[in-house]
Amino acid sequence: MSFNKYDTVEDLNDSKHDWLLRVRAQAIWKGITKETKDFRGYNVIFIDDCKMVECKVTVKKFDKKVKWYSNFCAKCDINIELVDRKYQCGQCRKIFPYPDKRYQLTSLCSDNTGTVPIIWTDEEVIRLCGKTVYDIIADDEEVEDGDKFPTALQELEKKEYNITIIVTKENVKEGSKVYTATKIAAPNEMCGNHSPSQKENSEVKATEISNFNMSSPPHWQFYY
Ligand SMILES: [Zn+2]
Repeated sequence: MSFNKYDTVEDLNDSKHDWLLRVRAQAIWKGITKETKDFRGYNVIFIDDCKMVECKVTVKKFDKKVKWYSNFCAKCDINIELVDRKYQCGQCRKIFPYPDKRYQLTSLCSDNTGTVPIIWTDEEVIRLCGKTVYDIIADDEEVEDGDKFPTALQELEKKEYNITIIVTKENVKEGSKVYTATKIAAPNEMCGNHSPSQKENSEVKATEISNFNMSSPPHWQFYY
């Protein structure tokens, strides 16, 4: 299934006259003039960046071959790797004796149309398992010799979730099939997640970000 529904502002050119763009109407007003009689005014903005998609999936498993947390520079908000036995931020060049750590769980999620990798972010994992990366690292039973995949995370597998992902430029323009979750509703939260007020909130939030043409697994609910 293709989601090539809208053109982007970036793609506009003189090759044709008709384009399909998404806009948000911020204000619509009616007026009247002596010459033209009734008229209607619109104040609209073009929506043109990325979009959010909500999907109901089963977490088959977390990919345990990749590390479940990352070291990062809090100032630049980018991950940093150990190079020459030191952690140095590639952007601000700061060297960290002990860098900040956050979850970076890669889940392999399936619905009846296929499987996609979805990365779970720190905030959502903490909320779901009730532990920070530091809590787990400090717990010998969780990590044993350091290589064991933590039980607290393992318990999040094999369950169905409502996951809201961000579809980015990389996904649409560069063909990346790896998505990042912004919101993950656990099985026990999924009823509450469908309440009218929650839905309204997520729609408003989703409308504030924008849209790219894309191809991605079907059966995902798009908010416009
Ligand atoms: Zn930095």
